[in-house]
Formats: sequence, C-alpha cells, structure tokens
Amino acid sequence: MPDRLRRVIAALTSRPVVKGAFLVFFVWISARLLAFASWARGEGPYVPRPEAVAGILPVGHFTSFFAWLKGGGWDTLLPAGLVIIIAALATSLLFKRGFCGWICPVGTVWEGAAALGRHLLGHNVRLPKWLDRTGMGLRYLIGIAFFGFVGMVSLAEAVGFRQLPYMWVADIKIIEGFGQPLFIVVILLAFVVSMLLGPVWCRYVCPLGALYSAVGLASPCAVQRDANTCIDCGKCSRICHAFVDVQHADVVRAVECDGCMDCVKVCPVPACLEAKVVGRTRIAPWVWPLLVVGLWLGIYAIAKLTGNWDTTIPDEAFRQIINSGLLEQTTPMF
Ligand code: SF4
Ligand code: SF4
Ligand code: SF4
Repeated sequence: MPDRLRRVIAALTSRPVVKGAFLVFFVWISARLLAFASWARGEGPYVPRPEAVAGILPVGHFTSFFAWLKGGGWDTLLPAGLVIIIAALATSLLFKRGFCGWICPVGTVWEGAAALGRHLLGHNVRLPKWLDRTGMGLRYLIGIAFFGFVGMVSLAEAVGFRQLPYMWVADIKIIEGFGQPLFIVVILLAFVVSMLLGPVWCRYVCPLGALYSAVGLASPCAVQRDANTCIDCGKCSRICHAFVDVQHADVVRAVECDGCMDCVKVCPVPACLEAKVVGRTRIAPWVWPLLVVGLWLGIYAIAKLTGNWDTTIPDEAFRQIINSGLLEQTTPMF
C-alpha cells in the first residue's frame, strides 16, 4: 500500500476522528430533536424525529430490554433504544468494549477533557493504586445495583413503562435540561476533574461501562505480546489511557482495555504487539475500528430495513403530549 494512502487511512481510522464523528452526530441529532419539539409547539418547521437519540435513556430502554429478554415482546413504540443496546453489547462482546472505545459520545467528552488536561498539565494525575482499585470496584457495585434494579422491574410494570407518554418524550426533557444552569455547573466541574484525573466517570462510575467491560472479557479478540521479540521499552504501558500494564502481559485480558489500539500502534518492534482473533488471525490497527463501526452500522441497517428502528408513535401523538404540559410537570429521568 502506498505510504500516502496508508497515512490517510490511519488518520481516518484514528480514535479522535472516529469518536469525534459520533460525538458530532450525537450533537446534531440532539439539535434535530429540539427542532422536532419546536415544531410540535408550533414554533418552527417540521423536522423528522431522530430515533438515535434513544441512547440517552439507559434506564428506560434497559428496563424495556430486560422485559424483552423475559418474554415481554419487542418494543415497537421506541425500538431504537433496544437496537442501540444490542449493538453496544455486540461490539463490546466481539471487540473488547468496542462501544466504549470507538463509539460512545459521552466517553468522548471525558476523554477529550483528559487529553486536554494532559496537553496543558503534562499528564493526568494517577490515583494511588488502592484508591484506583476501590474506585473501579465501586463502578461494578453501581453496575450491579443499576442492572439489578432495572432487571427486577416486573414484566407487567416494564411493559407498562414503555407505554407511558412521559417515556416517549423523556429524551426531549433531558436534552432541554442540558441548558439548565445547575446541569452546566455539574458538567463543567466533571470536565475539570477529568482534566486532572482522566475520565473518572468512565473508570469509576458508569454502570454501562461496567457491563460492557464484563461482556468484553469474553471477547475472542485481544491484544497479544510476543515476549520473545519484546525489547521491554515500556512504550505500550505508558501510552495506555486505561493504565493497563501491556508490557508485562502476554495477552491483554484487562477489563479496562477498550481496544483503542494505541499500544499496538506505538510498539517499535514489528509484529511484537498485535490484535488477534482467538490468538491467530491478526487484525491491523486500522481494521479494528472499521470492524467495530461496521458491526454497529450493520446492526442499525438491519433494524432499519426490517422496520425495527423507527417509532410507530404518530407525530400527532408526540405533538399532543408535548403540548399537554407533561414535560413541565416532571423531572428529567434517564
Ligand atoms: S464507560 Fe460509560 S460513558 Fe464511558 S465510554 Fe463506556 S459507556 Fe460511555
Ligand atoms: S492501549 Fe492497548 S491495552 Fe490500553 S486500552 Fe488501548 S488497546 Fe487496550
Ligand atoms: S512497546 Fe512493544 S517492544 Fe516495547 S514493551 Fe511494549 S510490547 Fe515490548
């Protein structure tokens, strides 16, 4: 492959570009949802409701997801939420937390803050090992509490929850809440903390990340080190944003690895550090994100083409709910 083409492909498949694209897309669909709400209130032209914004309602859609697993049927009212959960689980299972590593826009914000902190301060402060381990354990406790809670909702309640008019417009309530002063202050504080300590939300709090980390343990793909050719330069461990000790691992099984490929790219010894499928077939660093994003888009395309993506709730029903005063009477719930 010519060098120039190689450089272009490397740039297009780099994490900032791929994750940045998903973040821009998320901001764009959020703006489209607000425009849809404006139309419903008679304040602007018609804009189709973007379904992908369902990703900001993990409580509601995971409740619906567990109801589906328990035999409560597919959510035909807001099916995009279930499709996003299935796609996140599939990318995490096959590609080591691929959703966190290459797609999640929330994680991108915190990683961006951490990168800015490294740029301005030279590094992110690493917590003492005992505190770091405790924090990581806390994330799994939060995950168990979260998924225990939504998983234990009775089938009847979960199915009824899908049919609540509030659930249909909760995404609008949340996105409109992003402009509230309290929310802005909290986000700014979290941004500063992430600049100093790295993406603390992802590492110590996020219950979804805990689930995707656990699922990623079963991934057939992992980074492998050839101890015979390794020169112990330590570059792989130093660059790892998840603080994985790659230099001393034969196979990177760490739950925190999100398949970012930074360690593979930085290794100076050819074929010493590589991503492989079941320890055999090599995956080039630029192919890994294409596989993750390809799987993600493939699941979306199947859902879209089979009628399992778009809502079946008529626009007129959204319009009536938005104008009923329901949004103003309730607090945001994810
Ligand atoms: S840990 Fe949570 S917020 Fe962070 S990237 Fe993963 S899912 Fe997104
Ligand atoms: S640098 Fe390597 S070990 Fe660390 S998260 Fe990325 S792929 Fe995983
Ligand atoms: S970067 Fe490569 S050569 Fe250096 S320690 Fe890591 S695996 Fe070994």
